[in-house]
Amino acid sequence: MKVTMPPVTLLEWFGSAERDLPWREPGLSGWHILVSEIMSQQTPVSRVVEPWTRWMARWPTPSALAAETPGEVVRAWGRLGYPRRALRLHECARVLAEEFDDTVPDDVDVLLGLPGIGEYTARAVACFAYGRPVPVVDVNVRRVIARSVHGRAEPANPARRDLADAEALLPRDADGAYAATAPRFSAALMELGALVCTARVARCEQCPLEPSCEWVRRGRPAHDGPPRRTARYEGTDRQARGRLLDVLRDTSGPVERAALDLAWERDPGQRARALDSLLVDGLVEVTDDGLFTLAGES
Ligand code: SF4
Repeated sequence: MKVTMPPVTLLEWFGSAERDLPWREPGLSGWHILVSEIMSQQTPVSRVVEPWTRWMARWPTPSALAAETPGEVVRAWGRLGYPRRALRLHECARVLAEEFDDTVPDDVDVLLGLPGIGEYTARAVACFAYGRPVPVVDVNVRRVIARSVHGRAEPANPARRDLADAEALLPRDADGAYAATAPRFSAALMELGALVCTARVARCEQCPLEPSCEWVRRGRPAHDGPPRRTARYEGTDRQARGRLLDVLRDTSGPVERAALDLAWERDPGQRARALDSLLVDGLVEVTDDGLFTLAGES
């Protein structure tokens, strides 16, 4: 006789599959969660663990970070990429220290008013730091919803509908109020998209949503929209910016233009464009005697 196991719920799956990440330790502050979320945007969590641990030891509160120069914060950002995030985080820390008594607020709308905090980050902080039952939608959740709810291989263009879809999935009590497990459910949905229902492969045989998944029910139809674009890095302005910033990060004082020229020799026009954009973004400054430094170090 064949014995059929009862289906595993998403929360049960999460209980055994949840990754052991340092910002999931109990007792951390909203600041710890906020920094982890900013660092994890567009950067794989495996690359975030080391810098996050270092940052939290060095700057355990917003005021500690705010006391640094912006340049030192960009230097400590290292090679996490998209370094404007570091500048925005520094500015956010200043506001938190001066206007929020060195704490991170727990309300989505208040969070949205802070520098560098967008819709995703505000919801993630409210949910993961403070247990607020708010839907949290990142690229992984969008993919899980596209497949499991709408039967599409890939999400459509970003839309408010994703938020409504995620909200509809949150568990509720019999009286219609959000269940106490709602925040953990949001974390589980994100983890499922990161580990099981990934952009590269859907591991449906390991998925707790498989019995009810609309994409599976439809026979796993192929993506029929525009091809997915994969971001190129090699040879881009972004890579050129990174090389120039590396020179400034690796020194403690101003450098001559020639040092920057050596860091990206292949295309002078691209190098000039990259340097201009770093100056415009406020990541780099020119000293009175025409040398280049990280922000706030001239
Ligand atoms: S069953 Fe497959 S497609 Fe559906 S949510 Fe799970 S992994 Fe994704």
